Amino acid sequence: MARQRRKKERGVVGRVLLLYALMLAAALLIELDGRHVRLTLSGGAETVIAVGSAYTDPGCSAVSDGRLFGVRGGPIPVKATGAVDAGTPGEYVIDYEASLGTHVYHTQRTVRVADLTAPVIRLERREGYTPSWFDGYEEEGYSASDNYDGDLTDRVRRSEYDDCVVYEVSDAAGNETVVMRQIPYVPGRPVITLAGGEATEIPLSLMPYADPGWRAADAAGNDMSAYVRVEGEVDTGRCGVYERSYRIDSGRGEAVCVTRQVSVVPATLPETVIPGEKTIYLTFDDGPGPYTDELLDVLAEYGVKASFFVTCRYPAYFDAVGRAYREGHSVCVHTASHNYYQIYSGEEAYLEDFKACEEMIREQTGGYTTLFRFPGGSSNTVSSFNKGIMTRLTADMNARGYQYFDWNVDSDDAGRTRSTAGVYRNIINGCSGRTACVVLQHDVKDYSVAAVRSVIEWGLENGYVFRALDMTSPTAHHPVAN
Ligand code: ZN
Repeated sequence: MARQRRKKERGVVGRVLLLYALMLAAALLIELDGRHVRLTLSGGAETVIAVGSAYTDPGCSAVSDGRLFGVRGGPIPVKATGAVDAGTPGEYVIDYEASLGTHVYHTQRTVRVADLTAPVIRLERREGYTPSWFDGYEEEGYSASDNYDGDLTDRVRRSEYDDCVVYEVSDAAGNETVVMRQIPYVPGRPVITLAGGEATEIPLSLMPYADPGWRAADAAGNDMSAYVRVEGEVDTGRCGVYERSYRIDSGRGEAVCVTRQVSVVPATLPETVIPGEKTIYLTFDDGPGPYTDELLDVLAEYGVKASFFVTCRYPAYFDAVGRAYREGHSVCVHTASHNYYQIYSGEEAYLEDFKACEEMIREQTGGYTTLFRFPGGSSNTVSSFNKGIMTRLTADMNARGYQYFDWNVDSDDAGRTRSTAGVYRNIINGCSGRTACVVLQHDVKDYSVAAVRSVIEWGLENGYVFRALDMTSPTAHHPVAN
């Protein structure tokens, strides 16, 4: 009995142990299976869509899944929360939820709504517009707009280059647009043409440089001469090579430039021509004065041309200078001041006085002269207080293109002779036997002017012609004595 009971007891224990073992195995299998909800997103976990487009969620599915026993049963309902505002850029999160037993499972999708479209730049074009080289390009207009930011015209960055304009704009999302406009310039740059050539030689002179002029035209033939800027001085009083530039600047930083080389060289005086017939050159110094008009009347009466070496000492009679010129006489420089100590104090002083006299002549005649006579003549010694001044001045004035005249017949009207008869006698004595007579008189002396009629009659009777001096006339130069 006892054995049977023990055997019976052993059987119970064995069943209980087996049961435990089965339960343990089941728990182990459940654990190893790891059953859970598997959520699967259609489309990606991160999506980007263009602002303004319609958003349709691709959805999410759920199943019960295990490692050992796989998917069991049908689809599990999924609950989605969260919304996407497709009209407003930003990041939106959609949450998907499914549960198995007491467990709740989640997954998420991020939807980015973005402005993906670059702005548009529109270029306007003006009908028939062709920009010129000079004026540069005048903007024809443009506008920029963006699908999300709207009008961006104010934000356009514009860069102008030689032959194109580049327009750039970005929207708030950083999308960038670049467009380029070719500028249809009138082909070719303007051309500047210099009258007188690009290399000229002019004589040393006392007169300011007179530019022979220029012309500028663009390829379309438009005259642009007025836009030429001229730079570079020419000192006509100093030998040397000077450069002048003629330049047009366009409105866009380009320039066309040509240069002229002006060489100032010593003047070459024309050769003296010895007249073929007996000639008297009547010359009158120190006027115009009170007797000049009367003298001009006599000369006009005989049709005789003479030469006047004028001063600026008697402004009331300056008109006679213009009359003399118009009536065919030569108007020449003598001196403005006739002050020996002033004019022979130095070359500068001499030239200053000379120019003043030239200006008076220009005012009366409309032009300058290249003929002159030194006060006292070139042989004067009154200038000896300034050693060598006459040697320097005679050479210098010839190099500047001026011809000076002395005389070979002296009426002595500024010396001891004070009568008309004496003046007449001195002149005809001096002219007798001489072919080219350069006669010195002063038209500020009434007794000298009074002799002119008789001198003319004597000369005409004795086969002389009367001429005004010019650049080729005999100069009757005296030996320079200082
Ligand atoms: Zn004089």
